[in-house]
This record gives sequence, structure tokens and C-alpha cells, in this order.
Amino acid sequence: MSVVLHVAGRVLAGPEDVRDELWVVDGRITYERPSGARDVRTVTGWALPGLVDAHCHVGLDAHGAVDAATSEKQALTDRDAGTLLIRDAGSPADTRWIDDRDDLPKIIRAGRHIARTRRYIRNYAHEIEPADLVAYVAQEARRGDGWVKLVGDWLDRSTGDLGACWPRAEVEAAIAEAHRLGARVTAHCFAEESLRDLVEAGIDCVEHATGLTEDTIPLFAERGVAIVPTLVNIATFPRLAAGGEAKFPRWADHMRRLHERRYDTVRAAYDAGVPVFVGTDAGGSLAHGLVAAEVAELVRAGIPPLRALSATTWGARAWLGRPALDEGAPADLVVYDEDPRADVRVLAAPRRVVLNGRVID
Ligand SMILES: [Zn+2]
Repeated sequence: MSVVLHVAGRVLAGPEDVRDELWVVDGRITYERPSGARDVRTVTGWALPGLVDAHCHVGLDAHGAVDAATSEKQALTDRDAGTLLIRDAGSPADTRWIDDRDDLPKIIRAGRHIARTRRYIRNYAHEIEPADLVAYVAQEARRGDGWVKLVGDWLDRSTGDLGACWPRAEVEAAIAEAHRLGARVTAHCFAEESLRDLVEAGIDCVEHATGLTEDTIPLFAERGVAIVPTLVNIATFPRLAAGGEAKFPRWADHMRRLHERRYDTVRAAYDAGVPVFVGTDAGGSLAHGLVAAEVAELVRAGIPPLRALSATTWGARAWLGRPALDEGAPADLVVYDEDPRADVRVLAAPRRVVLNGRVID
């Protein structure tokens, strides 16, 4: 038997499931003390499942795709912050090589963003017209790891405001095609307008979702459509608005209003039963490694600390179909000095990160 890792203290195996210890044998979790282990390393503290960043971009920066060395640096920054499972919400770079590296976070990819022509950040997306939507969704569903990412709304230069990008019929056909191929669909949406059509068309998740209102929140709740608010990104809206004010005053005003009500929006969605998950939107203009800051933002919005923790641990992993601290699961966990349930700011300083059973030193 190789080196055995012993994690002692408080193991937070579930929101209501706290244990005293676990062991790691051959990279996997067990709650049964292994017999005959000679070389045991003990790590003590408060253990959580590896954190999930459900909206992150690896292989992307403000100008588009980046090289492998830069992608590696991004993934390492996330890992050292405790993020061991990423849902990549769209990347033009081929980061498939990361799957062969057991020292880098696990990634669930959504392929490359699919946007309407000239309706998104340059160099990021496949920019297409509605007639090609089904074909591109099928292509990215095959290329990704079970998710497809649409840009659902963006600045419309003809109106000078945020506007929906896809007609209802085409988006409905595209989502049906993704589901037929076994992929879920999510969409970037800032404004109010696109949400009803997307949910009625069967979408599985909406990113940002700052435009949720009392009209659309019940719809999301009823259909179990998740949201990933990315509040650390929404914090940049006033700066974006100031930059675009001269050319697009209506858009700037709209962005400011969405920003002002962001906490109320998230809280109202949570209270109505909409599933809410942690995502940072790292990789475009935002830095990697902000997962703790996003959890703190969800708490500031009014989500109870244990639920905000679940949105980056147990709950997020269940939603993505990945194990947490389950018997036999890959040992991906983070150990903290203090109880993160008492104060989620503890997440900002992991004592130890364990990935695939290896302690990252
Ligand atoms: Zn994003």
C-alpha cells in the first residue's frame, strides 16, 4: 500500500453530514480506516469537497484564445484557490490536454460560445445567424462535456440597448437538438427580455440572470432552471456603463439599473426556489481564483451561508453530476483552519488543497 492520507478534524461530507475523519487510498476517499497502512500523512482542519466554479473560462483572456502556458497558469490559480471542478462557460481554445493532467482542476466544457453576428466580445464566439443555430449547437454539444453556451442577449446597436439575440423558433429547435445529443444548454443574459423565451424553449441554466423579475422568477422556479449570478462580474457594470455612456446612454442606464438591484434579484430568485450556483466569470476580463469572493457576495445578497457553501460544493457537484466526499470518489478536497459554515470568508485561505489524493504543497 502506498502513502495513505488521513484527513482529521471535521469532514463536511454534506450540509448536515459532519464526520470526524476520512482516508485517501490510491487517490480515492474511504471512511474505513485502511488496515496495514504504514506510511500515513495526517492533515487536520475543516474539510470541504473541492470547490466548484460553475462559470469560468480557461484558455481565454480579454482578447480571445490564449496559449497552453497561459491556460495552465489560469488553471493553477483556480486550483490553489480551492477550485477543483470548473464548468467552463465557453472557450475558443482547445484545452482538452488538461484532462491528462492530474495536478489540474477537472473541467466540464461548454465548447465555444455561440453568439449572433457582431453581438459579443470580439474573438470569443462563433458568430452566426439564427438559420445556423441548430447546426452550431449540435457541433458544440459534440465538442463539449455535456453543456452548450449561447449568448442570449447583448447590446443591439440599432436600438442602443440590450436586446435578445435569438428568435423563439430557432432557439427552441437548438435546445431540443442539444438535449437529443445529451447536452444541457445555458445562456448569457443580462436583461429581462430574453428570459421567458429561453425558459419556455427548455433552457437548463442562465448565466448572470440580472434581468430576472417577479414575472420570470416563478417560471425559473417551476421548471428548475438554475442561475449562476457571477456577482463579482456584475460588480463591474458601473465601470462598463461609464465607458459606454457617450455612445449608448440607454444601454448604460439599463446596466446601472440591473447592477443596483443585483442583490435583491438574487435573493428573490433564491427565496422562490430557483437553484443558484457559484460562478466567477474568470478568464474574460476577470482574474482567476475569485471563488471565495463570489461565495461571500451570495451571502451578502441574503443567501444563508450553508446554502452559499452548497452552491460551490455539495449542491453544485450534484447538479453537475460529480461526486463530493463520497466513499470511493476521487479525493478532491480542501481543508481550512476554521469552520467555513460559521464564516464563508474562511474560503479565501485554504490550509491544504488535495487533488486526486495528492496534497498540493
Ligand atoms: Zn463568462
